[in-house]
Amino acid sequence: MEKIYMIPVNDAYMADCECPICFLKKKAENDYLDYYLGPSLMEPDTRKITNKTGFCPEHMGKLNKRETARLGLGLMLHTHLKDLSEDVTKDIKAAAPGKATLLKGRSSEYKSKLNAIADKIDKRVASCPICEKINYSLERYLEVIMYMFSKDSDFRARFAERKSHCLPHTAMLLRSAASNLSQNDVSDFINLLADNNAIQFSELIADVEWFTLKFDYRNNDKPWGNSKNAIQRSMRFLSADRSDFDEQQGKK
Ligand SMILES: [Zn+2]
Ligand SMILES: [Zn+2]
Repeated sequence: MEKIYMIPVNDAYMADCECPICFLKKKAENDYLDYYLGPSLMEPDTRKITNKTGFCPEHMGKLNKRETARLGLGLMLHTHLKDLSEDVTKDIKAAAPGKATLLKGRSSEYKSKLNAIADKIDKRVASCPICEKINYSLERYLEVIMYMFSKDSDFRARFAERKSHCLPHTAMLLRSAASNLSQNDVSDFINLLADNNAIQFSELIADVEWFTLKFDYRNNDKPWGNSKNAIQRSMRFLSADRSDFDEQQGKK
């Protein structure tokens, strides 16, 4: 088992965070954003890939937000746009069907052509080396979580104490347990996961409910409790913290 993945997994399970896998994902994402905005942005080997793939909408936004390496990004985008344009523009033009006339009957062949080009555009827009690398790292991290759960009693205790995993990462844990754990280990693992998951659901449900009840003037003077950020916490729980649900700057 690869040791380089064990330390971050241990750190994540000891960190004060809502989901240790979100914690690992965020760290990997930041490392890869740094990587693609660093010297590699100009390296021919990296450029060969990024010219072709570009980045997905979410990571393009995050690269842009860093406000750095503007020249490198510009050069990459210039080649990427040319590549896309060659791939897509002609296809779109060629997909226009001839007009139906009395002599030449109608045909619905063009419809599947339009859908095929749309699929191709969707695929190209979504392609992203940062997503690929994050997914690869998360797969390794999940294997390590399963390995440590079955072999390392300290880690097992830590996992048991861990109150929360977001829902998308709970799904990843279920899949990884199915392919990496023995039946007896799955039995322990799933019982812990299920109990903690149920607690988390009921806490969020209660907190969101209290958030809504605070809009009732009769509750004006009652304390918020844990409800002030209930919306953001619920969204992070449902989305694996995919987007910007930060609570700072007084956003409520
Ligand atoms: Zn998560
Ligand atoms: Zn991406």
